[in-house]
Amino acid sequence: MVRVGVLALQGDVREHAALLAHLGAHVSHVRRPEELREVDGLVLPGGESSVIDKLARIFDLREPLVARIREGLPVYGTCAGLILLADRLADGIDGQRTFGGLNATVRRNAFGRQNDSFETEIDVPALGDPPVRATFIRAPVIDDVGPSARALATLPDGRIVAAEQGNLLGTAFHPEVTGETRFHERFLARVRAAL
Ligand code: GLN
Repeated sequence: MVRVGVLALQGDVREHAALLAHLGAHVSHVRRPEELREVDGLVLPGGESSVIDKLARIFDLREPLVARIREGLPVYGTCAGLILLADRLADGIDGQRTFGGLNATVRRNAFGRQNDSFETEIDVPALGDPPVRATFIRAPVIDDVGPSARALATLPDGRIVAAEQGNLLGTAFHPEVTGETRFHERFLARVRAAL
């Protein structure tokens, strides 16, 4: 059974853990470096990226996590998790940092107030049919992806909302709240392949 962790400093940890367990993974919460050592893949949940960044430093988790991402740990980040996975932040607050790894520039809270949260269907060619029912909650967008990363999904206006690079996968939206399982399955396939 694959052992995957959900970074459990803040955010929608429970939804991810439930979905991963439903898909047959052995799931644990990761808050400390020793817990990080025990997993073969990690989900960075949605929440508030600046808070998760701060807590990761306080819990001495930042450096080991950055190192494992560099070594090829499969990671899937949703929303705040995508922000934390991006190499570049267009508009971080208060010295906010990311863990990095995904060659992309992310812009936080990219949808106006009225559209702070919305649901829409998007085509994700890599996942095939049917389209993904995507929930955006104060979501970021990806301004650009570097040569090593590729866009997986775009909105009709061309903005990128999902990307991947090797073992790293990030979505601006939250599949874990709509019962969409294909992104988590894709992540788990990466975890198995990397064992
Ligand atoms: N706006 C949040 C941030 O910047 C992300 C929101 C979310 O994860 N749903 O971290």
